[in-house]
Amino acid sequence: MAITRDDIVAWLKAYAQKIADEKDYLTELDSAIGDADHGANMHRGFQAVLNKLPDIEDQPISKILKTVGMTLISKVGGAGGPLYGTFFIQAASPLDGKTELTLSDWADAVESGTAGVISRGKASLGDKTMVDALKPAVDALKTAVAEDETIETGLEKSAKAAEEGMIATIPLVARKGRASYLGERSAGHQDPGATSSFYLLETAYEVWKNNV
Ligand code: ADP
Ligand code: MG
Repeated sequence: MAITRDDIVAWLKAYAQKIADEKDYLTELDSAIGDADHGANMHRGFQAVLNKLPDIEDQPISKILKTVGMTLISKVGGAGGPLYGTFFIQAASPLDGKTELTLSDWADAVESGTAGVISRGKASLGDKTMVDALKPAVDALKTAVAEDETIETGLEKSAKAAEEGMIATIPLVARKGRASYLGERSAGHQDPGATSSFYLLETAYEVWKNNV
């Protein structure tokens, strides 16, 4: 039972589809506290990833994820694109040389990707950003590994933790990114980046739960 390269490719394709489906919703969230482009940004980036996949899908997992990250950085402007690009590039680094992943490898990848986002964007938990979905997911994955849970259970718990983190952004006042310009007026709205980050973990669970 492991996460294979084919599983990683299937996850990236499913995420691109999820972003396409939720593009208008993400933009609506960003119109409340940002500049109404998060859905379009993510969609542009993941359509570029989809175009690139046929060239890279037989490469090692770490190479695929690095190329995804570089594609996002080159195709998406604003804060979100470079932050997601960093997530994928940094997620790749603990996976060098691995042809399939255990839950522990996946936890290391998500942890490293999240550390990259934190290092680049300087956001902490509670600043109303994508970190509020990613960090709880990392913690849930590490707990699942420590408790020797199955991959499916670890994925389920990480998706749930990311969802709770996303919902918890609603009352927060933004301290990073464009939404922080609104000060107190940013409270009462769900963060768009936390939402797209929840989809990353949710899609991993949905795509892999019956497979790995
Ligand atoms: P932009 O803000 O440049 O328009 P997007 O709309 O694509 O870019 O992305 C906005 C999202 O990026 C926010 O909802 C937030 O989750 C995330 N974000 C913005 N700044 C930071 C930061 N410094 N650290 C982490 N995430 C951030
Ligand atoms: Mg925006």
